[in-house]
Amino acid sequence: MAVNKRDYYEALGIDRNASADDIKAAYRKAAMKWHPDRWVSGTDAEKKTAEEKFKEASEAYSVLSDPDKKAKYDQFGFAGVEGQGAPDFSGGFGSLDDLLKNIFGGGFGGFSFGNAGGFGGSPFGSSSGSSQRVYRGRDIRTRVRLTLDEIATGCEKQVTIERNTPCPDCDGKGTRNSSDIKTCPRCHGSGNIQQTVNSLFGRTVTYTTCPQCGGEGKTISNPCRSCGGTGLVRKRQTVNVKIPAGVEDGMQLTVRGEGHAGQHGGVSGDLFVVIEEIPHANLVRDGQDLFYTQVVSVMDAILGAEISVPCLDGNYKVKLDPGTQSGTVVKLRGKGLPAVSGYGSGRGDLYVKVLVWIPRKLSSSQKQLFNSMRGESEFTPNPNRDDKALFEKEKKIF
Ligand SMILES: [Zn+2]
Ligand SMILES: [Zn+2]
Repeated sequence: MAVNKRDYYEALGIDRNASADDIKAAYRKAAMKWHPDRWVSGTDAEKKTAEEKFKEASEAYSVLSDPDKKAKYDQFGFAGVEGQGAPDFSGGFGSLDDLLKNIFGGGFGGFSFGNAGGFGGSPFGSSSGSSQRVYRGRDIRTRVRLTLDEIATGCEKQVTIERNTPCPDCDGKGTRNSSDIKTCPRCHGSGNIQQTVNSLFGRTVTYTTCPQCGGEGKTISNPCRSCGGTGLVRKRQTVNVKIPAGVEDGMQLTVRGEGHAGQHGGVSGDLFVVIEEIPHANLVRDGQDLFYTQVVSVMDAILGAEISVPCLDGNYKVKLDPGTQSGTVVKLRGKGLPAVSGYGSGRGDLYVKVLVWIPRKLSSSQKQLFNSMRGESEFTPNPNRDDKALFEKEKKIF
């Protein structure tokens, strides 16, 4: 640690009550005077002094412009900010022009550089002029397969995706040295090139994406080797996705911020999870309702029986009355699926359709038995008795 360091306020020529704007203005003044760009034709001794003065002012500014560091410095002096004060100039000082634009380019009233209303008023959204662009990562779409049982209760699924994540070697910055990130000299950080054409009809101003930085407004001189300067690396990662009960095939859930990471510290995209329903062995779904078909014997239909229906919450016993007709539908109220929260309420029903199976082959003694009952009134169809409604309905269908 340097022993003979000047007090940061003194180095910038301001007093301790200086406002953030005062600090900025003082640094601007120092940079205009001492930046190495101003001393290109100076003697070696002059260059050395300028460099030292510029470094000193830069260090003071980097501490005093950061409210957190400033508070620590105010309370504990150099000890409070030890090791965090000096900006890294190992990759060069950058140009004075860029520096002024980076620090004073946006939102600092009272100063304007270059042609006012130029990039500052560009229609591309980076209206603060300097490199304020925020990149949003792309969205990812994936599928998840669910059984009806999982859909009935809702569940949590682990989804494995490949996505861009911030490069761990450069912290997503694209380079290990932040001084290697410079404002693009071509577009001065706006990401756009403004072209003014004078014609008979007057001046026309057009904007195109800067070819040098691809619209990023920054260039990286020493790209990180792990990510090639993009700041992103591809990774296989697992995301826990909460699936609400009642979802349907083809529905899409949005998991905010679990898509690709944005470039250079931008915001992440979203993860879209499309629901795919695995067909159930016995149950057919229609919205919230479920359908099940049970085939019974002639005896069970005639004498009555108890059947077992495979509901989602376990087997459910259903009593069939003696004389149950083929095609009878039994409704099990509330044994269907719940509505997706926010898209309805209650539960659907489970409909059981009973079909009677008629044997195709009988032994001679069985044939004799049925023959002996043939013609008896109990075995003669009679639409005018108990099942009038059933007969009417069957007629309509065909
Ligand atoms: Zn990297
Ligand atoms: Zn550019």
